[in-house]
Amino acid sequence: MQQQHGHGSPRLELVNLGSGSGGNCSLLLAEFGGQTRRILVDCGFSMRRTTNALSEFDVELQDIDGIVLTHLDRDHFNPSWSRRIGQLGIPVHVTTAHRSGAIGAGCPEDCLRPFMDEIDLGIGLLARTHLVAHDDSGCVAYRFELEGRSLGFATDLGHVPDTLISFLEGIDVLAFESNYDRSMQMQSERPEFLKRRIMGGQGHLSNEQSLHAVLRIDRTSNLQHVVLLHLSRQCNEPSRITELYAACAPHLLERLVITGQNAPSRKVRVEVEVKRNPGDSVLDAPEDLERTIGKSLKETG
Ligand SMILES: [Zn+2]
Repeated sequence: MQQQHGHGSPRLELVNLGSGSGGNCSLLLAEFGGQTRRILVDCGFSMRRTTNALSEFDVELQDIDGIVLTHLDRDHFNPSWSRRIGQLGIPVHVTTAHRSGAIGAGCPEDCLRPFMDEIDLGIGLLARTHLVAHDDSGCVAYRFELEGRSLGFATDLGHVPDTLISFLEGIDVLAFESNYDRSMQMQSERPEFLKRRIMGGQGHLSNEQSLHAVLRIDRTSNLQHVVLLHLSRQCNEPSRITELYAACAPHLLERLVITGQNAPSRKVRVEVEVKRNPGDSVLDAPEDLERTIGKSLKETG
């Protein structure tokens, strides 16, 4: 990829300010040609909680250039934002399918920027989008691109269609849902209908389903960081995830960032040209993958 010179090299960074059923918000930072874009992916926390978290990264609400929403569940769009969004005139990008839902949730209509498939966020930052099934109205997965660097973001998936894998092909950094540990979910006191909703293919991904998808994406990419989102407080533990990765994807263990509900994650940055050692990947064929994950499923379940 030909880089433009004289304007400093492009920068693409992500920090998750908190993730889980109690709220989701990430900050995407892009810099190119001496200009910066600060984009929020979802805004599911209170205004105060978000401004506090942003201040840790020297960002103020007034600096936010736009909000992109995955969907309108309350943990991704907190209606208490509506007034401030209107006052500051922050553009809110939603898929056209979510437009009326956003208005219903109180989002000021003149701030809404409904999109069909791509969002031009300025300074060369482009968000490509992909609608996936989640509950009734679906959820948007994003692929942010800046000068040949790319970062994928997908949460609240329920299941992983092949189209999502190809949508995220060749990305540098992946932020991806890893909601529950299967055995913890099965053994939880949750009502059956809720378990069915979560595990029924339109709710959330188990750690194993998530890892399976991460590995498929990693085969076509050179993932520098894998940021895991939306861990269930009741039915997941970061240690379960690291055990799973240690067993099935040890080459990714050092690149893992496991987000939490209550504190910001560390910031990850897309680096240029990090070449993978070809010996890194321990799994060669998808069948190996299925077998290994299947085996770990049996062991843990
Ligand atoms: Zn959610």
